[in-house]
Amino acid sequence: MVPPYDPLTDATPGTALTHVSSYWAATAGEMPADDGPAPAQADTEVAIIGGGYTGLSCAYHLARHGIRSIVLEANRAGWGCSGRNGGFARMALGRLTTAQMIAEWGHSAASDAFTMMRASLANVRTMIADGNIACDALEAGHLKIAHRASRTDELKREAAVLQRDFDYPAEFIEADELRSRHVGGLQSFGALRIPDALAVHPLKLTAGVLNMARAAGARVHGASPVTAWSKRGAEHILTTPFGSVRAKTVVIATNGYTPQLLHPAVRATLLPVLSHIIVTRPLTAGEIAAANFVTRHVLTDSRRLLYYWRRLPDDRILFGGRGALTDHPKTNARQREFLLAELKSKYPGLEQVTVDYDWHGWVCLTRDFLPHIYHAHDDRTVRYALGYQGSGVALSLYAGRLLAQSIAGSPAEPLLPQIYLPLARYPLHNLIRIPQRLAYLWYKHLDNSD
Ligand SMILES: Cc1cc2nc3c(=O)[nH]c(=O)nc-3n(C[C@H](O)[C@H](O)[C@H](O)COP(=O)(O)OP(=O)(O)OC[C@H]3O[C@@H](n4cnc5c(N)ncnc54)[C@H](O)[C@@H]3O)c2cc1C
Repeated sequence: MVPPYDPLTDATPGTALTHVSSYWAATAGEMPADDGPAPAQADTEVAIIGGGYTGLSCAYHLARHGIRSIVLEANRAGWGCSGRNGGFARMALGRLTTAQMIAEWGHSAASDAFTMMRASLANVRTMIADGNIACDALEAGHLKIAHRASRTDELKREAAVLQRDFDYPAEFIEADELRSRHVGGLQSFGALRIPDALAVHPLKLTAGVLNMARAAGARVHGASPVTAWSKRGAEHILTTPFGSVRAKTVVIATNGYTPQLLHPAVRATLLPVLSHIIVTRPLTAGEIAAANFVTRHVLTDSRRLLYYWRRLPDDRILFGGRGALTDHPKTNARQREFLLAELKSKYPGLEQVTVDYDWHGWVCLTRDFLPHIYHAHDDRTVRYALGYQGSGVALSLYAGRLLAQSIAGSPAEPLLPQIYLPLARYPLHNLIRIPQRLAYLWYKHLDNSD
């Protein structure tokens, strides 16, 4: 069993740990090789800490700009969120709906955000095609389902804004059509349909991006946690258990797994939050018919503590959600039972279904609920892309590309200005679990009332 890791208190996520025991690890096949542990001494233009989508994409795109980089990953590529997520590559940027973005930031910034979301999806498609990545990618689309009748108005409004303001073919699907053509269940009161979303095998996607980065010339060292970081003159020195790596620029690509003491630029700025997933045994034909689970769309609901789920190619249901605060075997076992009960309460007919796999990981929230692609305020050679708010499959791959562009000094792609700002610190960060617990109670109350 992988030992629990708490980014708020632990110094590194471990060394050379195997991937979490998940449905993805069981079905990915052999992972491709990396470059082994970091050497005793190495020099590079850019050192990247973290071997997930952000770090590997950054390394790949840097190489395309002719810039040498070394990725230092504590365990193995995709050990963090990138190898264990739900595999929903969907349009997401922070917590606001597009209608809320217009209300809060005005039309121009909302339009930048929308452009960025679409660009991130386009980038995933391009990378999968360019790398010839076999990650079971399916152009699935995304249904955001109203879990109570009272939530339909908000989803209708969002569909209307997307159509009117962005000329985007979103639509609202009424309950009858949703239940007959997509998925039945007791909590299916209509849905916002976003046609752009891919369902992928996240660990196979990681493997593909790892191959692309290495083939382009980047070096990727697994089993190489950065345990200390100092600066001598213009040079950064990153210490690993095997020696040190010197670099002109360092990229922090550790997201929800960022240890507090890694660098002052990110200290007290991130809230790591657990997300749990269960994967059921394959449903029988009778169970699929009972739930009318015919859709291959990726699904989320209108809760604040939202659930995300999908029917997998082998007819299992992957079902995920937040709620647990600490990574503890007892809490994890409770969360597994809780998620199974929630799935069954959505879909009568699944009473006999059992769970074959369950796992969890740390997603990353920021104070303004937005990702930030920026640099330390006093040192432009310390870069980061962090805080995807639990929806970073498409965005993190894109953020890696944007980071590479900015390091290379290339003209920036259209970008929401709010993202290009330093991360804000949480006050009383060491007590952050207290307000988080209260927020969860409040969200649950809101989710269960009209
Ligand atoms: C259960 C779960 C389900 C999710 N489902 C979805 C989904 O369906 N769709 C979606 O869009 N997003 C989803 N996400 C979020 C998404 O997976 C992440 O936003 C994305 O993978 C972040 O990638 P990353 O490369 O930035 O970070 P990660 O993939 O988390 O990689 C960070 C890496 O940094 C390494 N690291 C940390 N400290 C050090 C150190 N000191 N030295 C060296 N290495 C270090 C870690 O070992 C880790 O491998 C989910 C996340 C979880 C946990």
